[in-house]
Amino acid sequence: MRLILLGAPGAGKGTVAKMLTKLDGSVQISTGDILRAAVKAGTELGKKAEAAMKAGDLVSDDLIMGIMKERLQEDDCKSGFLLDGFPRTIPQAEALKVLLADLGIELQAAINLDVPRETILDRLTTRRTCTDCGAIYNVKSNPPKKQGVCDKCGGPVVQRDDETEAAISNRLDVYNEKTAPLAGFYEKEGMLLTVTATSSDDVINAIKKKIGMK
Ligand code: ADP
Ligand code: ZN
Repeated sequence: MRLILLGAPGAGKGTVAKMLTKLDGSVQISTGDILRAAVKAGTELGKKAEAAMKAGDLVSDDLIMGIMKERLQEDDCKSGFLLDGFPRTIPQAEALKVLLADLGIELQAAINLDVPRETILDRLTTRRTCTDCGAIYNVKSNPPKKQGVCDKCGGPVVQRDDETEAAISNRLDVYNEKTAPLAGFYEKEGMLLTVTATSSDDVINAIKKKIGMK
């Protein structure tokens, strides 16, 4: 699979991407995960990204394109990739188009996960994330077996810095202004599939149908 996953924060891009990787060995590429790992490791990239992330603002297009140009040329991408949280602005989408053409890679579809705002707000405020492996939990619907401890790796499960109410509200505004227009961009490219389902299984089935996967 070679797909872009679009959708607001909390729409379920990460969850759906993780499910899709299990189908055929495609890799999930989450710019958010890459950036959080860089912040945690205190690298140059992390230092540049940290303040914007904490406020729920976007990191600069140049920084993101630098990351993606390298990431898409790594070997594991040969078995397919699911872009989760990238592209997030029209300039990123345009730069991605050029980059993929240079690399001789063709995308199959851009999947737009369209979820009502109330569902999103509810999910984001109750979401918890493992800082070691990125596993996602929910205090209401899917808590870790032991509070604060990741079932998968034993790492700490916490609320992200940018999941305070102020940062969430800013992330949704930024999404509406900068990222929502990407649906129109990919519609014009003839690649858009909008899925309104909230159940992940229904989302997966709609995607499989779109790309002709059994
Ligand atoms: P979510 O989709 O839940 O908002 P992500 O984990 O995808 O969260 O991203 C977290 C933060 O990382 C964003 O709020 C932003 O600051 C930064 N980020 C991630 N991907 C991009 C991108 N493609 N362009 C700019 N900033 C990004
Ligand atoms: Zn973990």
